[in-house]
Amino acid sequence: MQSRRVEHFVESVIRDMTRLALKHDAINLAQGFPDFSAPEELKRAAADAIMGDYNQYSITWGAKDLREEISRKAKEYNHITADPDSEVTVTCGSTEAMMASMLALVDAGDEVVIFEPFYENYGPDAAVSGAVPRFVPIGDDGSIDEDALVSAFGKRTKAIILNTPNNPAGKVFSRNELRLIADLCTDHDAIAVTDEIYEYILYDGREHTSIGSMDGMHDRTVTISGFSKTYSVTGWRIGYALAEKHLTSAIRKVHDFLTVGAPAPLQHACVTALRFPRSYYEELAGMYDRKRMMLYDALSAAGFECLMPEGAYYILTDIPEGTGMDDMAFAKYLVREAGFSAVPGSSFYNSKKGKHKLRFTFSKKDETLMAASERLARLHLPRD
Ligand code: PLP
Repeated sequence: MQSRRVEHFVESVIRDMTRLALKHDAINLAQGFPDFSAPEELKRAAADAIMGDYNQYSITWGAKDLREEISRKAKEYNHITADPDSEVTVTCGSTEAMMASMLALVDAGDEVVIFEPFYENYGPDAAVSGAVPRFVPIGDDGSIDEDALVSAFGKRTKAIILNTPNNPAGKVFSRNELRLIADLCTDHDAIAVTDEIYEYILYDGREHTSIGSMDGMHDRTVTISGFSKTYSVTGWRIGYALAEKHLTSAIRKVHDFLTVGAPAPLQHACVTALRFPRSYYEELAGMYDRKRMMLYDALSAAGFECLMPEGAYYILTDIPEGTGMDDMAFAKYLVREAGFSAVPGSSFYNSKKGKHKLRFTFSKKDETLMAASERLARLHLPRD
């Protein structure tokens, strides 16, 4: 009965692992959402917005004051000029921004370049839009094989999906890498669709670069971000897409008929978020840096080989040798026997490499991470 469109993907394994963790009363290190409170001021702004009667549809592409504030932030932080009236679209999370962009800009049979490992959603995003994915591997040391990247671009390339900082590998793309990608986009008349939801979560002095700010890229980039991660409000479902006005007009058509609009009172509260002082973002990155080291140390001590993330809030590990289990079996073993959950690596890979990987998130309270560390210390790795 189902359409051919949906035959090509399964339900999210990440969200599935969350349900499994709940069932077994396990600590959820699978899904990337904070188990700590959102900022007090933001919660109050949302409550005030509801009591202040911001309860009806907003303009379909986003409340005016929010689009203006997003445009200001994009200029200051991303160095991107985006006219609030014609180049900013507020969406139901960056998830919708990505899907709406793909549906609006890609035709069935067009090729889309995707770095691997990739965020789980990009597979279904490509499948639903009919795109043919061309995968380019990110090495375990975070390097990109330039030859593979160059040869992934061809006559049928319509777009490249970028994600920096990247989930799950924590890679932060350098200016040089982005320049190379920008040149390839220009040479092949392709669009960069860039998911920058972790743009403020960077470590060891790294800086965020938006490809949309680079020479020649303004008119061929869709820059996607949102409020979920930066302000710890993943349940609010507010994100946005910045793009040149013709691209925006295509995205807005899909957005309007898909969702009508993002939640109006929460859009209003997000204006408050964008006015937070610079210290807020420094404290956010500092807090996650501390949590990164807590989880990294606990996983390493338990025998997991970890990749140190440069940004975002995940650690990608190898499955220790000799367990005789693939990623799915090992993830289920951890939930049942050790009391904590991770995401099986296959969710992030097209190649078989994912079968040897797991992803853990450290977007959790210190006490949650401490409890997980204790369980990790008691973990007896099964041997085949
Ligand atoms: N993009 C990436 C790379 C993510 O890791 C996530 C959530 O984990 C999302 C998008 C989802 O963002 P949103 O809550 O804005 O839809």
